[in-house]
Amino acid sequence: MTARLIDGKAIAAAMREALTTRVAALPFRPGLAVVLVGDNPASAVYVRTKDRAAEAAGIAAATIRLPAGITEAALLAEVARLNADPAVDGILVQLPLPQSIRAEAVIDLIDPAKDVDGFHPRNAGLLALGRPALVPCTPLGVMKLLEAAGVALSGRRALVLGRSSIVGRPLVALLLAADATVTVAHSRTRDLAAECRRAEILVAAVGRAEMVRGDWISPGATVIDVGINRLADGRLVGDVAFAECAAVAGSITPVPGGVGPMTIACLLENTVTAALRRR
Ligand code: NDP
Repeated sequence: MTARLIDGKAIAAAMREALTTRVAALPFRPGLAVVLVGDNPASAVYVRTKDRAAEAAGIAAATIRLPAGITEAALLAEVARLNADPAVDGILVQLPLPQSIRAEAVIDLIDPAKDVDGFHPRNAGLLALGRPALVPCTPLGVMKLLEAAGVALSGRRALVLGRSSIVGRPLVALLLAADATVTVAHSRTRDLAAECRRAEILVAAVGRAEMVRGDWISPGATVIDVGINRLADGRLVGDVAFAECAAVAGSITPVPGGVGPMTIACLLENTVTAALRRR
């Protein structure tokens, strides 16, 4: 391996420590409500992780567990109740929701000022316009990793691989705001490898295990791997073939221990940001 490792775990730990100090100095305790519908085991793990991280930072976290069979109307009523609760600064509805419930209807009802996931159309629109918004946690985490690693963005060629509303699209807006020259690639892109080779900064968020190969990387490029993929043998890998790419890249994030921990740290930061703006 020749690439420098960008240690997301350490960078996130430092962020959380600084946040804990900030929260301790506040005259109030920020509140985060996490809504979990049903018993999807992966969602339950994510929610528990978020809840514990929030409590450790001094944020008052409450997990609201609702049955899988809940109606959309009842879930919307729960969101409305949280919108109206002055002790709640941040609301996060863990996705995916059961098929009988329209996720869009639920997200659209969340008070944009409490939308710590940054998924509400108002926040997405503000971000797209380059105006202050609550920004989705994973792309925000990617930007903080780049900053902490000292990666210059202005004028440089960045490629975002993936155009989902929770990672790819908001990341494009953030990179543009940082004056990068941004290309977005997706499943219809012709000659993905050639697009990747042009990138000085490559962010992969596709959900395809080890799709990005070593010969797709420009020597010295920065590679950020958002992907989390579980292989049949139980191993967790990213969207980037790590060993091959690390032999060519200038710096690279591991999976696990790269973007994942930053997502949690940014959720906590968004909660504090929302609390300070509201109160
Ligand atoms: P989505 O499935 O919503 O989006 C995937 C994107 O990748 C789409 O834009 C899709 O293109 C594109 N894509 C899929 N296959 C290919 C292909 N063969 N070639 C080129 N592009 C392709 O995924 P998410 O954005 O939600 O997540 C992406 C990955 O990031 C997943 O592994 C997920 O687990 C991980 N993740 C990690 C987080 C973290 O905290 N570290 C948080 C959130 C996600 P098209 O639009 O054309 O279909």
